[in-house]
Amino acid sequence: MTRSTTRSQEIFARAQGLIPGGVNSPVRACRQVGCEPLFMARGEGSLVYDADGNEYLDLVGSWGPLILGHAHPEVLEAIGRAMARGTTFGAPTELEVEFAAALCEAVPSIERVRAVSSGTEATLSALRLARGFTGRDKIVKIDGAYHGHTDSLLVAAGSGAATLGLPGSAGVTAGAARDPLVVPHNDLPALEAVLAAGDVAAVIVEAIPGNMGCVPPAPGYPQTLRALTAAHGALLVYDEVMTGFRVAYGGAQALHGVTPDLTCLGKIVGGGLPAAAFGGRADVMELLAPVGKVYQAGTLSGNPLAMAAGLKTLELLRRPGAYERLDHLSQIVADAWLDGARAAGIPACVNRVGSMFTLFFQDGPVTDYTSAKRSDLQRFAAFFRGMRARGVSLPPSQFEAAFTSLALSESDVDQICSAARDTLREI
Ligand SMILES: *Cc1c(COP(=O)(O)O)cnc(C)c1O
Repeated sequence: MTRSTTRSQEIFARAQGLIPGGVNSPVRACRQVGCEPLFMARGEGSLVYDADGNEYLDLVGSWGPLILGHAHPEVLEAIGRAMARGTTFGAPTELEVEFAAALCEAVPSIERVRAVSSGTEATLSALRLARGFTGRDKIVKIDGAYHGHTDSLLVAAGSGAATLGLPGSAGVTAGAARDPLVVPHNDLPALEAVLAAGDVAAVIVEAIPGNMGCVPPAPGYPQTLRALTAAHGALLVYDEVMTGFRVAYGGAQALHGVTPDLTCLGKIVGGGLPAAAFGGRADVMELLAPVGKVYQAGTLSGNPLAMAAGLKTLELLRRPGAYERLDHLSQIVADAWLDGARAAGIPACVNRVGSMFTLFFQDGPVTDYTSAKRSDLQRFAAFFRGMRARGVSLPPSQFEAAFTSLALSESDVDQICSAARDTLREI
């Protein structure tokens, strides 16, 4: 069962002298689960292979983008066709227009959309636009919600920051840190109080939080959130960087029946290449330069390779039964994890929406960041390590969601379930 990871260890040793912590994004270092990172060499379908040639069933999916699995042949072919025509122009291409049309078609609240290269850029641009549109300064965010690494949004930011036990980040000015008003997830009275205090340009929410672990909104919360923001003249910004094309083709807003003013997309829309987008009401979006007074730009925005990968990914997700299958596979996995924990006498609960889910090591219910933090992190770390040793790759944090992909076979799912049962018995 113990796999040799000598090659990963060698690369990691070298990386630490060249890259801070040896990684280009902090959670990848796996410190919080008491492991060293595995350096990946290749992926195919439901599987990833590390530098030592070990094989893992992948429930990370590059943190969300790979809903079709690794190296999907049709996506690779689309990228190849685009690549042969040149990799970037810094001038508009028709592919960007097709990409915009696909997003507007999928998400009815999006009347105009602009492509960017990361989720961080999408949220920071949407909030600048919201400030420009409303002429107001304040932003409201949810405790434990992650919207990328923009200064003012790193306050109470869950995920990476939560995992590493950082209160936020050094290097953020007091002004930026004071800026966002933070309210707990699922707390409507707290939200109403900050809105009533006035001057709120926007409320930004993870449509279904996934960066404190998966913690869905309570029934009625999204609809009341929509009504309250409208009543107070604040824009509602749905950060669907994780949930867009993940929980449904039209994102969480399709499930909630809510029409946000602005929506941020990322991860899946890039089909595994760096692309993201923000869009929404035409009257708000038309305030962007060059037509309006809010500046926003990007050298590689709308990159043709990323557009091609994203468009092909969306096309394949439109095939009948895609989301039903994801839901079915995810339910099997989530049920097996919970049953396995119960059988082993381990306190646990599962939150799941479609193909995003988290096994929390506590009785629950987990309804916000405060309750998420009551989880037994030692036990999560042991679960992570046991699954890795059995050839299953999980996100290395209790405060993250696992994702299934359409590349998983029924026998892959069986293997994931039995690995979990064995691991849970052992820990
Ligand atoms: C991943 C994520 C982001 C940040 O996207 P990057 O591409 O990593 O900058 C923003 N919001 C949410 C909800 C995310 O899950």
